[in-house]
Amino acid sequence: MPSQTDALQQELAGLRQELRLYQNYDLLTRLYNKQTFYQKSAELLREQPNTPFDIVCVDVERFKLINDQYGAETGDKVLCAIAAGLKQAFSPMNAILGRMAGDVFLLCVPGGREQEVEQLILRVFADCPLNRPVLPAIGFCHVTDRTLPINLLCDWAALAMRTAKGSYLKHSAVFNSSQRSLLLEEQTLMDKADAALKNREFQVYFQPKCNMRTGRIVGAEALVRWISPEKGLIPPCNFIPLFERNGFIKKLDLYVWEETIAWLRRRMDAGVRPVPVSVNISRIDIYGMDVCNVLTQLLNHYKVDLSLLELEITESAYVNQPEEIIRTIERLMGHGFTVLMDDFGSGYSSLNMLNNISVDILKIDMRFLARDDRKSRDILESVLHMSKWLNLPVVAEGVETKTQMDFLLAVGCMYAQGYYFYRPMPQVQFEALLADPEKVDLADNGRQLFDQAMLLDFHDLFHKDLMSDRLLSNLLGAIALYSFDGEGLYLLRGTEAYYKLMDSFKRPQAQWEQNLLPFFYEEDHPQILEGLRRAKTAVDDNVVELYVRKHHRNVFLWLQIRLFHLAETGGRDVYYAALADCTEHMTTLERLRVSEEQFCLAMETTSLVLFELDIKKREARYSKYTQRSFDLDAQVVKAPEGFIQQGTVCPESEEDFRAMYEAIFCGAEKASCIIHARLSGGAAVWNRVSLTTVKNNRGQAVKAVGIVETISRETEPSPEICQALRRQAQSRQSSAAAALPRGPANLI
Ligand code: C2E
Ligand code: CA
Ligand code: CA
Repeated sequence: MPSQTDALQQELAGLRQELRLYQNYDLLTRLYNKQTFYQKSAELLREQPNTPFDIVCVDVERFKLINDQYGAETGDKVLCAIAAGLKQAFSPMNAILGRMAGDVFLLCVPGGREQEVEQLILRVFADCPLNRPVLPAIGFCHVTDRTLPINLLCDWAALAMRTAKGSYLKHSAVFNSSQRSLLLEEQTLMDKADAALKNREFQVYFQPKCNMRTGRIVGAEALVRWISPEKGLIPPCNFIPLFERNGFIKKLDLYVWEETIAWLRRRMDAGVRPVPVSVNISRIDIYGMDVCNVLTQLLNHYKVDLSLLELEITESAYVNQPEEIIRTIERLMGHGFTVLMDDFGSGYSSLNMLNNISVDILKIDMRFLARDDRKSRDILESVLHMSKWLNLPVVAEGVETKTQMDFLLAVGCMYAQGYYFYRPMPQVQFEALLADPEKVDLADNGRQLFDQAMLLDFHDLFHKDLMSDRLLSNLLGAIALYSFDGEGLYLLRGTEAYYKLMDSFKRPQAQWEQNLLPFFYEEDHPQILEGLRRAKTAVDDNVVELYVRKHHRNVFLWLQIRLFHLAETGGRDVYYAALADCTEHMTTLERLRVSEEQFCLAMETTSLVLFELDIKKREARYSKYTQRSFDLDAQVVKAPEGFIQQGTVCPESEEDFRAMYEAIFCGAEKASCIIHARLSGGAAVWNRVSLTTVKNNRGQAVKAVGIVETISRETEPSPEICQALRRQAQSRQSSAAAALPRGPANLI
C-alpha cells in the first residue's frame, strides 16, 4: 500500500507538472508561450549549428473583426483550430511552435523552404471553421547571425509580417537588409524628434478643400511636415506611424493644433476671414489626453471660434477600440466641434460602423479605390448612396484627375481635396490664395449635402416641384401644337427648338397629316393616350406631365412632355405641348437605382445582411441575397409580421423582434435586438438585428436601415447571449408595465 508520503509526493509531482504547463505553455492553444518558444528555439539553433533556420511570425488578418462579429468564443475557437492545424502541419518538419500573443503565432522552421511553409500555413487557414475566409499575414526572418537573441529575430519577422498585412495578393514577406536599415532610420528619427520639435523643424502645411462645382476653396486640412536641416523634407508617412507607436504623436499633434489655431488667430488679426481648417487626431491622442478639454483651452486662449476648427479622426481608429473613441467623439460633437470621419471606406466594417457612430462629415479617400475598375466605382457609389440616406456630407480626398472629379459630381459628391485642385502648401502660399476673393467661398460651409437633383429618387421626381422647375427652365422653347383625333397624334405647329429636339421629325408642311405616335416607343403609347385623355378632363387648367421615350437613331431619348388641352374643334382635340429632353436625368436616376442595388451587392460581400424599412408603410425591402438566405417569398414584406409569418424568426424571439420594430415606429432613432432566426434550409442562428432611422431633409424619420449580423451559429445561446436576452426581456416587460411605447431601443 502506498504510504502517505508517497501519495503526497505523487500529488506534488502532479502539481509541478501543472505548474510547468502554466509556465511553459499558452493555455488556450497548448502551444509554447513566448518565453518557452524563445528558449526552445535557441536550444534548437545551438544543437544544429549548421542547419539554416527561419523564424516565422504569423498573424490572423482582421482577427479583431472576427471577434467583434462572431464573439470572443468563436475567436478562441479559430485560434485553437489554427494552432492545432499548425502543429499537425509542421510536426514532420521538426519545427518549434508558439503563440506570441493574441492572434500572433511563432514558428522556428528549417530555412530555405519559405514557399512550402507559406503553402502549409495557407492550407491551415483555409481549413478554419468559419464561414468567411480567414487569411494569414506571414513574416520570415532568416537566421543568419546566431549570436542575436531570438526575441530580436521575432521582432524582425513581425516587422516583415506587417508589410504583408492587408494585401489580398501577397501573404508573406521576408525581413531584409532594407527593412533593417529602415529600422535603424526609424530609431534615428525617434532620437531626434524631441529636439526637432523644440527647433521648430515641424511645419504645418495646408491643403485646400474645394467645392467641385464652383472650384472655390471652402476649407483646408492642416498637414504636418518635418523639415530637417540634414534630411530635408520628411513626409509624414515616414514618421507618423512611428510616433504613434512610441507615443510622441501626442506632443506633435498638440503642437500642430496650437500652430493651426494660432495661425487662424493671426489671419483674423490681419483682417482676413479664414476658412475652417481641419486637424488630424490620432487615436493615440484620444487614449492619452482629454482632447476635448485641450482643444477648448487652446481655442479660448487664442480666442478662436470653434466653428473654424474641424477634427479628422481616421476610420481605423473606430475599428480597434471603439468605446473610448465613440465617447470622445460624442463629447466633441456635444461641445459643438465638427468631426470628420477620415479615410472612410478603408476599413471593412465601415457601413456597419455608421450604425453606431455619429459624425458630421465623411471623408472618402479615392486612393483606397485606386484601381480604376468597376467594383471600386460601384463601392464608391454605394458609399455615397449610404451617406445620402444618412444625410451626411461627403468630402472626396485624393482627387487627382478630371475624370475622377466628373465621376464624383455625377454621383452627387460636391467637395474634394486633392492634387487636381491644390497640393499641400506652406502657410504663406495658402495665405496668398485666401487673399484672393475669386478663389474662396466663405458662404459655402462645405456641408451642402448633394446636388439637389441627385438627392431625389425616382418617386420624388414625379412629386417634387424642384425637378420639374429645373426641367422647365431647359424647356422654354420646345413647344408644339398637336391635334388628336382619338387615334392619331398630328403636329399643327412647332417652334424651331421643337424641330431641333425632335430631329427625326420632318418639318410639317407635307407630312402634317402624319401620325406621330409611331415615333414614340410602343410601350409608352398607352401612357401618351392616357395623358391626352387626362389633360382634356383636367380641372383648373392643370397640366399633365409625361415621361416617354422616343426613338432616336439607334438609341432612345427620354422626353418630358407637358400637355395642356386648348380646345376641341371639328372632332379633334388641340393640345399645347412643351417638350424637353430629360435623358440625362432619367439615366442618372436609373444609375442611382442601380447603385442602390449595387449597395446591396456590396453589402453581400460582407457577412452582413442589409435591409431598408419604409417607416410609414411599415414595409421592409431587401436584396435577393437576403431573400434567399432567409427563404422569404418576396423582396418586400410588411414588418415585423411579414417576417414572423414566414417563419424567419424563431418563436422564442418573436416578442423581442416585434418590440424592436415597435420602438422604431414609436420614434426611437435606433433599436436593436438579438434573435434566433431561421435560415433557408432550416438551420437557426443567433442574429443581432439593428435598425437606424434615416431622416429626410425636413428631419422626419422616413426610412430605417437595418443590419443583420450573425453572432453565433450554435443552437444553444452562449452565456453572453443569454444575458443579453434576459436584459431584452426585462426591458420589454418594464416598458410594457409602464405603458410606455414598447421597445428595447439600444438594449445591447
Ligand atoms: P490623411 O489625414 O489622410 O491626409 C491626407 C493625405 O493625402 C496627405 O498626405 C495629403 O498630402 C495626401 N493627398 C491629398 N490629396 C492627394 C492626391 O490627390 N494624391 C495623393 N497621392 N495624395 C494626396 P500627407 O500630408 O503625406 O499625410 C499623410 C498622413 O499622415 C495623413 O493622412 C495623416 O494620417 C497623417 N498626418 C499628417 N499630418 C498629421 C498630423 O498633424 N497629425 C496626425 N496625427 N497625423 C497627420
Ligand atoms: Ca486627415
Ligand atoms: Ca484621409
